[in-house]
Amino acid sequence: MSARILVVDDILPNVKLLEAKLTNEYYDVITASNGKEALEKAVQDAPDIILLDVMMPEMDGFEVCRRLKENPVTSHIPVVMVTALTDTSDRVRGLESGADDFLCKPVNDVALMARVRSLVRLKMTIDEWRSRETTANTLGVMQENTHVMSQAVENANVLIIEDQTFEARKCLETLQHDHHNVFSVENGVLAMERAAITDLDLIVISLNMIDEDGLRLVSHFKSNERTRSVPILMVANEQDMHAVARGLEIGAHDYILRPVDRNELLARVRTQVRRKRFQEKLRNNYETSLSMALTDTLTGLFNRRYMNVHLEKILQEAPESRKPLAVLMFDIDNFKSVNDTHGHAVGDEILKVFSHRLQQRLRSFDLLARMGGEEFVAVLIDIPFEKACYVSERLRTCIAKDPFPVSSDVEKLSITTSIGGFWISDENVDVEEALKRADDCLYEAKNSGRNAVVFVDKGKLNPDDYKEEERSRNS
Ligand code: GH3
Ligand code: MG
Ligand code: MG
Repeated sequence: MSARILVVDDILPNVKLLEAKLTNEYYDVITASNGKEALEKAVQDAPDIILLDVMMPEMDGFEVCRRLKENPVTSHIPVVMVTALTDTSDRVRGLESGADDFLCKPVNDVALMARVRSLVRLKMTIDEWRSRETTANTLGVMQENTHVMSQAVENANVLIIEDQTFEARKCLETLQHDHHNVFSVENGVLAMERAAITDLDLIVISLNMIDEDGLRLVSHFKSNERTRSVPILMVANEQDMHAVARGLEIGAHDYILRPVDRNELLARVRTQVRRKRFQEKLRNNYETSLSMALTDTLTGLFNRRYMNVHLEKILQEAPESRKPLAVLMFDIDNFKSVNDTHGHAVGDEILKVFSHRLQQRLRSFDLLARMGGEEFVAVLIDIPFEKACYVSERLRTCIAKDPFPVSSDVEKLSITTSIGGFWISDENVDVEEALKRADDCLYEAKNSGRNAVVFVDKGKLNPDDYKEEERSRNS
């Protein structure tokens, strides 16, 4: 997995050292020697990760980081603070200024590669969601801009897996103090039981348990559908760096070394929870945008846009290999007078019941869409001509037969619909033409007095011709 990494440090040998290490692992490295240059290159070269020195003249790393995270063009790029400071309050300050991680100088190779790899993976996921979000936006549905740092960090469900009572309690108390809902268990079985009933936001796993292999648990949670996207924070001793690297490789998101510093723990937990919520938000936005772009909010049916794409796909198939289909166009009769007499709200209720009745009488693989106003289109797949006529008559009667219940004082209203049908077997037609021919028949049905079905090449259907079949089907 290659990636472009921007290394920022005011001391040249430091830059060279990191550059050499990263190039050796086939990363594409660009460099900057001060904050201003870093901000410019972050915009121009769109790096996947930024390694940022804290101590720099003029603009220090915290300030650079803050500006990167403020700018919508760069805010999604993960930033790793590289610091000579051993004071944890500075590390925490880094994380709080929006840095995604930090490394201590002199930089440990395992730690460097582990962090870079894990952040590259995060960046790929975010990029993927961002591009989908952009697609959804171009489909015409606006969504608020999502930002990592704006996500809430309280009330996370955190599971701690640790068999050393003292360590577990320290972790539990620290996180409870930060208003999280914390569950502490001492082995994998209990952990899995908890994960099955709670929607977790973070799992903290000790790599130093006596009867439990922490890495095995990481792997278990990563391969389990329910917990796959829950971030994992490992707790390890300094001499366990290879286990840590392995854990990050198999999907853990972060680690913390013992003795666990409370502030560092809090900051890392916040970062992970924030990232998880950010990704969830992107996913939700995407799903809402998609469903809004393709469905009609009043009836829940697909909309015109979706119908057009759907029908186009079907009609693109070669007529010889395609199953015969029918396109039915509906228009409610005298709907304007319903609105005029009983009000728009009653009209809306009618539209909902109308949709529901039709939908109930179609097969699951048929498609019903609201094209706009009181016009609907159904596409019946793989259907012989006579069956298409029969179904159309049945759809007409399911509307006309029983008055519609409405919540106004009239309680029930008689509604009818006209239907234009076009049956397509081996003809070569496009969407526009198919809809036009069904629409022409609909126009004829209206002219013939409404509450009627007219089919291309057949004309108006005689309801009596289809009653017999209905009786035999009902018996
Ligand atoms: P026809 O039998 O010839 O189809 O007569 P009509 O009155 O149904 O035809 P027309 O197209 O003139 O009127 C359609 C009406 O549908 C006009 C509009 O007020 C109403 N309408 C369109 N969309 C909606 C909607 O979302 N809700 C409600 N309540 N009414 C709608
Ligand atoms: Mg109408
Ligand atoms: Mg109309």
